[in-house]
Amino acid sequence: MERRKKSFSIMHFKDFMRSMTNEVANLIAPLFVRPIPRWPFFVFLGGAMFCLLASSTCHLLFCHSRRIAYIMLRLDYAGIAALIATSFYPPVYYSFMCDPFFCHLYLGFITLVGCATIAASLIPAFETPEYRVIRAVLFFGMGVSGVVPILHKLIAFRHRPEAVCTTVYEVLMGICYGLGALVYATRIPERWKPGKFDIAGHSHQLFHVLVVLGAYTHYRAGLVYLKWRDLEGC
Ligand SMILES: [Zn+2]
Repeated sequence: MERRKKSFSIMHFKDFMRSMTNEVANLIAPLFVRPIPRWPFFVFLGGAMFCLLASSTCHLLFCHSRRIAYIMLRLDYAGIAALIATSFYPPVYYSFMCDPFFCHLYLGFITLVGCATIAASLIPAFETPEYRVIRAVLFFGMGVSGVVPILHKLIAFRHRPEAVCTTVYEVLMGICYGLGALVYATRIPERWKPGKFDIAGHSHQLFHVLVVLGAYTHYRAGLVYLKWRDLEGC
């Protein structure tokens, strides 16, 4: 009798251990069975690094000569276009990785518009005033088109805390970039006190600080996407 009781409790313990092992295995399985691709996150990091490198090179060499200043300014615009275009990759890819149609549609669209904007920034033919409107529309359209996949994600995954959290980061990023563009275009604050902000606090410095802040909030959103998909897959 005593022996039967003992073997029963050992079996019970073994069952318990087996179910625990299964649970832990289920929890970490997606990490090993279906590793989530990292390339969309690296595309964004590459675009952000290219943008910051292009603008620091632009500022370093701008005073060299008229010719170099002309080339550098083009490179600076191309860097901003690359940052905006590559910013779409992590949210679009990780939000719609289980829905290839929308994933390819949004990524294809932003890649096309991004290439067109980079070309419009670099090709001298687009430099002329007639193309000024086209350049402005390309930059503006590229930024605003981000609203479509973000809203789509928010509706499709409204019950997921990760979708809400990443949207908050994306709105913060939009505010940073929007403020950056506003400060850049209106030349605040030096327009109010000319000469007072030549060394520190100039609109162009504020613009660059806001771009770095925007890219950083986007990076934080990218980490949330990675954690979400790593744990759950599709
Ligand atoms: Zn600059």
